[in-house]
Amino acid sequence: MPYDHRKTAPRTLALALAVAGSCAALAGCGASQASEASPTAGKGGTQTPPPAVSAATPSGPSSSAAADGQQTRTPLPDSSAPQESRSLAGRTVVVDPGHNPGNFRHSREINAKVNIGTGRKECDTTGTSTNGTATEAAYTEAAFTLDVSHRLRDLLTARGAKVVLTHDADRPWGPCIDERAEIGNKAGADAVVSVHADGSAVGHRGFHVILPARVSSGAADTAPIVGPSRELGENIADRFARATGTSPSNYLGAGTGLDVRDDLGGLNLSTVPKVFVECGNMRDPKDAELLTSAAWRQKAARGIADGIATYLNG
Ligand code: ZN
Repeated sequence: MPYDHRKTAPRTLALALAVAGSCAALAGCGASQASEASPTAGKGGTQTPPPAVSAATPSGPSSSAAADGQQTRTPLPDSSAPQESRSLAGRTVVVDPGHNPGNFRHSREINAKVNIGTGRKECDTTGTSTNGTATEAAYTEAAFTLDVSHRLRDLLTARGAKVVLTHDADRPWGPCIDERAEIGNKAGADAVVSVHADGSAVGHRGFHVILPARVSSGAADTAPIVGPSRELGENIADRFARATGTSPSNYLGAGTGLDVRDDLGGLNLSTVPKVFVECGNMRDPKDAELLTSAAWRQKAARGIADGIATYLNG
């Protein structure tokens, strides 16, 4: 889809991206590829994230550009234009990888109830997974969310943002949903995005962004964040669709790619603008094909990063 504000990249960065782009085409090249090397990493729970230094390299945007095949053959994605590269300086973004690969081994802890303002709810869940195939193990949502979150962190850091992850599989389980909200609040985040993939019926396809409903009960008071969170979510939905070429959910949101919920502790307890992104449906084979593709996950991360940047920069 043509964009109306594509910008021309300065020659030097364009060259750097072109070189990195050919690098991205080779397996095992670059931090993002390294984290992709083990799609069953959910088992380990100790997956090492890409080194922080990768945030300063152009490998993130370039690999998405190289993988952009069917969508566009233009040399650079518009919003990865270098003149925007430091546009998030001074901003804090909290990235919340949904679930934790270790939750599977800690049912007692994650089933313990926590207070979400409107009531009590389980600390967390294990998350869903793809169905897997005869030759390929199921890909867990927790592994997916960590991978996309790493990519998102790198893209945002490259644009100058301070990025805080709520966890990095560096703890055996959790955090619980109330703690996830608290991390965003304490960071004084300008925006928080919780990364997820759905586990719905076959045939249910597409992404959706979950926005906080207006809730005022106990420790939950979302009135101040409902408006800005919607703005954040609309920008992410728009940019996610553009970056990935995928459509909004065909099973909820009436084609808008937006859903509003009052039952998520991570949203209810947030005092800063926050949304959940459900990137696709892991239980649908066609969506699963996308979700298990490293190139597609890079596009997904870019779409989310673009949405955050558009929200923060107006
Ligand atoms: Zn989830």
